[in-house]
Order: sequence, then C-alpha cells, then structure tokens
Amino acid sequence: MKPYLKRAWAEVSLSRLRKNAEIIKGLNSQSTEVMAVVKADAYGHGDAHIVRTLAQDCSISFFAVSNLDEAVAVRNFAPNAEILILGYTPPEYAHEISMHNIIQGVVSTEYAEALAQNSPASIRCHIKIDTGMGRIGLKHDTPAECADEIAEIMKIGKLSVEGIYTHFSVADSDAPDNITYTDRQQDFILDTYDELISRGIKLRHCHFMNSAATCYRNSPRSTLSRAGIILYGLHPDISLDIPEGLSPVMELKAVISHVKTVKAGDCISYGRTFSADHEMRIATVTIGYADGYSRLLSGKGKILVHGKRCRIVGRVCMDQLMIDVSDVEDTVSGDIVTLIGCDGNECITADELASLYGTIGYEVVCGISKRVPRIYID
Ligand SMILES: *Cc1c(COP(=O)(O)O)cnc(C)c1O
Repeated sequence: MKPYLKRAWAEVSLSRLRKNAEIIKGLNSQSTEVMAVVKADAYGHGDAHIVRTLAQDCSISFFAVSNLDEAVAVRNFAPNAEILILGYTPPEYAHEISMHNIIQGVVSTEYAEALAQNSPASIRCHIKIDTGMGRIGLKHDTPAECADEIAEIMKIGKLSVEGIYTHFSVADSDAPDNITYTDRQQDFILDTYDELISRGIKLRHCHFMNSAATCYRNSPRSTLSRAGIILYGLHPDISLDIPEGLSPVMELKAVISHVKTVKAGDCISYGRTFSADHEMRIATVTIGYADGYSRLLSGKGKILVHGKRCRIVGRVCMDQLMIDVSDVEDTVSGDIVTLIGCDGNECITADELASLYGTIGYEVVCGISKRVPRIYID
C-alpha cells in the first residue's frame, strides 16, 4: 500500500522542529519556560506529531491552544502537560475543562462567575489583561484598578487563579512609537503583577511574550514565552530577521501531471488572462486553491522545478495550476516540484509566498487544507 498519494503533500521536518525548540529555549532566561502555541492544528503542521515531539523529545511541558477541542486533543498527546486555552470556551463546558485538567483564560468577572457556576469542581485559570491589543481581557486605566478586579475574581469560589497574561499587538515592529507602545503594555502587566504582590497575592505566572517579544525584547519577567510562529521557523514580521538557526518546518510539494508545447496566441487557464506570445513549454502541477495554495497567486507565484524558479501562468484552479517550464528542458510528467521549501540552491518560504499576495506566513501554513496529507520526516 502507498503511504499517501503522490499528488500534493506537506513534508514536516521534526528534526527542524526540535532544533527550533532548542534555539527558542536558548533565547529565554532561566526564569522563563517555553509554552508551545499549537492552536489551529499546530499552525497547520498537525498537532499530534508536533505536540508529541515537543513533549517527549524537547521536554516542553506548557502548551497553548485556542479552544476546548484543541485542548482535549493536546491532553491525549501529552497526558502530563499544562494546557492553556487562550480563547473562549462556553461556560457550559466548565466540567470538561476541569475534567481534563485544562487551564482556561478568563477575560472578565462576568465570565469568571459563569465558569464557576457551571463547574462542579475547581477550575484552573489564567486571567487575561487587555493592555492594548483590544481583543479580550480585563481593561483598566491603572494597574491598581486592574489588581482590584483580579482580587475580586480570586474571591469567586471554585476558581483557581494561577496567573495573569497579556498579548502584544506590535512587538514585531522596530518603529520607535511601536516600541513605546509595547513598553507600555509590558509595564502595565508587570505593574499589575507587582501590585498584587504588594497586597500579598503571589501568582505563579505572569506572561506576555509571543514569538516577536521572545526574539526582540526577551524579558526574564515573563514566566512563559508563548512561542508560536518561530517554533515553525517563520517570521513574526518578514522585515525583521529571526535568530540564527531557526528554519521552516514545513515544505509543500506536488507533481507535474502534464507537459506540453504551446504556440504564440494559445491561452492558459480560466478567464484567458494569459496567452503565450511565443512558443513555450507549459507544465501542469497537481495543486490548487482547494489545497490552500491561494488563487491570489495567479500569475504571481513561482514554483521550484529541478532547482529553478518557474512562474505560474494564468489562474490557479481548484486542483491544478500551470507553470512556464521553457527554461527547464528536462521537465517530465511525474517530476516532483516544490511550492514551499528548497530545491538545490533555491528556496521559497511561506513568508515569501505570503508577501506576494498581501498576507503573512501564518495564514499560508494554517491555510494548507485538510486534503493535503502531512508527511513527517526525521
Ligand atoms: C497566537 C497567540 C500567540 C502566539 O503568537 P506567535 O506570534 O505565533 O508567537 C501567543 N499568545 C496569544 C494570546 C496568541 O493568541
């Protein structure tokens, strides 16, 4: 039996993942542990293999996810891990949160009360503070007022508050006003934490570093570094370098199904947006937008064939696309091509692809669809 159909597939390198994890640990101080962010099926890489590798081979014991289903999945892959749900869980599911020993992010007093009311047992939580992201969390003008609300939430029975956290919105920018903005966010959460200490409340966790902060403004005062995108070897922002040695974990490949010569005037793909102005060699590739290779890459994307960059001609279809292989004479049907990854000396990263159509590497890897099997190598 074939392990998978050689049509379009993603190769996920577990050795690169391990190396990235070790590098990230090295960026942090002794007082900071890595919390691997594995939401959205580990950014499209497949949470089962990613979580098992990080837990078993890299001794990572903290994981963050976006919802309860993801949390329960991670619990099965890493029975002893600490798992934080960063996003919303309907309070009616409180019993499942406590049954699986999961930590819930709490965004308001109202939500804290609803969780406690619905929970038959004690429920662990970290309180989210909105210091400037404007998404979720307690929002106050001063750290003292914020500490007041936290102290009130801590009085709610059944709720076991183990930490506070916040999320930066521009830690991936080196513009001076953005640096000031992030400084203020960081000061706010630390002042809130210190205010609690001065009132005799010492929480185990106070965390605020995402990938960008872990790379560019690492602080020993963040007890966890919630590393997402850098774990997978991509950039928080393409304009800033990431630490030496981090490398992309996922490559995306497909095959050539048909090669032909077209004459001047022949049209390629839907809408006749491309017509040859001279004789060309055109190859058809077995991947399309239903695989997560965006239609916005029509006429823009490049694909590696035998180590050379070949441009996409015409529109990307649902399951196929066409490329110009006039300069790669030995191209034949069955050849493997690289859409993301390296071939010879050429590399195309998810970050590069993203910038071609106005998005970020995060969306590219998360968007590789379910139809594309993930193949785990080394
Ligand atoms: C997704 C997420 C992260 C990870 O962000 P990266 O930029 O991928 O490191 C960290 N914290 C929160 C709250 C998140 O939602």
